[in-house]
This record gives sequence, C-alpha cells and structure tokens, in this order.
Amino acid sequence: MNIQVRPTDQAPEGATHPDARPVLSFKAKRRGKAPTHLADFDLAGRKAALKEAGLPAFRADQLSRHFFTHLTTNPADMSDLPAGQRSQICELLLPRLIQEAAAIRADDGRTVKHLWELFDGARVESVLMRYPSRTTLCVSSQAGCGMACPFCATGQMGLTRNLSTGEIIDQVRRASQAARDGDLAGGPTRLTNVVFMGMGEPLANYKTVVGALHRLIDPAPEGFGLSARNITVSTVGLVPAIKKLSKEGLPVTLAVSLHAPDDDLRDDLIPINSRWKVGELLDAAHQYFEVTGRRVSIEYALIKNMNDHAWRAQLLADELNSRGSGWAHVNPIPLNPTPGSIWTASTKAAQQKFVDTLRRNGVATTIRDTRGSDIDGACGQLATAVEKKMKEQQ
Ligand code: SAH
Repeated sequence: MNIQVRPTDQAPEGATHPDARPVLSFKAKRRGKAPTHLADFDLAGRKAALKEAGLPAFRADQLSRHFFTHLTTNPADMSDLPAGQRSQICELLLPRLIQEAAAIRADDGRTVKHLWELFDGARVESVLMRYPSRTTLCVSSQAGCGMACPFCATGQMGLTRNLSTGEIIDQVRRASQAARDGDLAGGPTRLTNVVFMGMGEPLANYKTVVGALHRLIDPAPEGFGLSARNITVSTVGLVPAIKKLSKEGLPVTLAVSLHAPDDDLRDDLIPINSRWKVGELLDAAHQYFEVTGRRVSIEYALIKNMNDHAWRAQLLADELNSRGSGWAHVNPIPLNPTPGSIWTASTKAAQQKFVDTLRRNGVATTIRDTRGSDIDGACGQLATAVEKKMKEQQ
C-alpha cells in the first residue's frame, strides 16, 4: 500500500485558481530599517559609534555589560554612567526595538511563546522552552518568509522584511531575562541554547544572522558568551550560503530542512529545490560537517502519505550513507497540521517504521518533540492567528 498525496493536490493558501503554485520571493515588501542598536556592532563598532556622537569610546564596555550581562536597557540601572549622559547614550545605542504584543504559556509553564511588535508594526515570534538539562530559545530572523513552503504558516505570509541584528539579539536578551527572572515554571534558570527555527529563512538574511551569531557567541561583555555548539541555524537549503557559513569560523550546528530525499517530491514540497537539488544540498551539508566538525541535523516533517513512506526512509539513509557515516542526525517531527487539509501528520505506525528504517541503516535518528504545538508552537502560527483575529475585529 503506497498512497501518494502530492503537495500540488491542493492549491496554496489564498490561491485564486486551482493551478496556482507557491511563489518564491527574495524582495521584501517593506524597505524600512530598524533603528541602529548596540547589538548591530562588535565592540570596535560600538566605540566608533560613541566617538562619532562626541561621547567617550570607553563607555562601550560599560554599556555592553549592561546589555549582554545584566540584560538591561534601562538608563536608571546604569549608575556607572554619568547621570548627564545616560539618556543620550541609551537613546543612541539602546533604542527600544521590540515590544510584547502577546505572551502565551504551555507545557505547564515550561514553554512561553512571545509575539513581538517591531518599530514599524511588523510582528515576529519567539518561543522559550525549558528542558531538564537546557533552556532553548527559538528566534525569528525575518518578518514573514519568502521561501513559500506550502506546509508552513510563515511560508504563506510572504516576506515582509529582514530583521536587523539588534532585533534578533533583543529577542534573546528578553528571553534570557525571562529565564533569569523565573518566568518559566521550575524557577530561575539560564538560557543555554538558541535555534534559528522561528519565522524566516536565516540564510536569506545572511550578514545580519552572522552578526547575531557573533553576538551570541562572543564572550561577555562583547556578547552573551553562549557556546557555539548550543546554537543551531536551520535552513531550507540555500547551498551557496551553507558553503559560506562553513567558512565563518563559527562552529554552530547546521540544520537542513530536507523533508524529502527525492527531487520529484521535494520540487513541489520545498520551492527552493527548483534552484538547488537534494544532491547538491546534501553535498553542501556534508562539506559543512567536514569543515566545522559539527554533525548536521536533517529536519524531516512527517506528512501523512506524502513523504513518510518506508522507501523514502531507505532512500534518505542511502543518500546520507553514500556521503559517509556518522555525519548527520535525522530529526523527524510529526507535522503540525492545518486541520482538514492535505497536510496531516503521519500515523504513529508510519512514523515508527520510518524511524526504524533509518536506524537499521545506521543513521542516528531522534523524533523531535512538539513543544508548544497546543499554542500554535510552530512557525508563524501565532502571528497568523493574531492577524486573523485583528481582521475579524475590524
Ligand atoms: N527557514 C528555516 C527555519 C524556519 S522553520 C528552515 O526552513 O529551516 C523551522 C523548521 O520548522 C523547519 O524545519 C521547517 O520546515 C519546520 N516547519 C515549518 N512548518 C512546519 C509544520 N507545520 N510542522 C512541522 N514543522 C514545520
């Protein structure tokens, strides 16, 4: 029994005729740029910005410590800065970038999802999740996304604009603050992990995201001083950018959203596959492993009767093993579905068979947990829900 549901069996959301296909977009709808922020710069850049404003460059160290170590942007907390200069310095380098528009809790308070409003009214999400041995933040790198994956809520929105490094990093500061201040059930804790699996395609906002990686990894007070191995950049498969990232000297974990091992299906499931095929993508992922020594994660959302066949698990194992052993780790995740559509999560039995096939072929495989799925945890779903509600109220 090999039923094959195709991504093209149903027109994309919002389509005006049945043959409509998802459209990739690389151009933002909005041109505006967030105000300049301390986190946009390395320490030397911060000093230069202060100097240019006629302020002493050495204040950059103090200001950085307030932001990255004490997690504050409030001038009243900065008693080591001269009272007369505090607000000028803060206005210059610590403008408010994100405001809470909504916060929703799940998993008995161990998961908090935030919807943030940016300076121009654009909205992005981040999700903070506490596990027994780590606390992880899922951040957004763009408002919306241009990659148009038909099963992804953010993919249906199109690209509003790229975030700035400051806007990405301020999501992290706010989450670190929440963890420190005991906002998660279980008491105060430290943020240890960051994954770029929120809204947006991080490698389509390359320079900004690399800047954010530096701020995450750089030791305090220049950055948060997180361990590079605890940071994951997830990509739909922008091959040249993967190659570039491997050479940045930032040994972060790369996650590749593969979702299909054959071009026949992936061409329809992941529109960017029209540009870079499965083979090229896996070659780049393998090269990333060779250069950085970091094992690559292969993300695979299991979609009922679409990509969850045992033969596809076998093909995936063969594709990975043909490039070497032990270099990749597969993370199947049950699709977080839009009810009543062709996009439905696989059955438990199909999921188990898929996992068993991979493991039998020596491929390390871990089912990813579905934290926060009851609060529209996946990708863009909260922003979509809020937008719908606002439209209904108008
Ligand atoms: N653009 C990046 C990162 C954002 S999405 C990327 O494509 O990797 C983070 C992960 O969530 C990706 O693996 C994406 O394919 C997956 N995802 C998106 N919508 C989903 C859904 N409805 N159910 C399960 N996973 C989903």
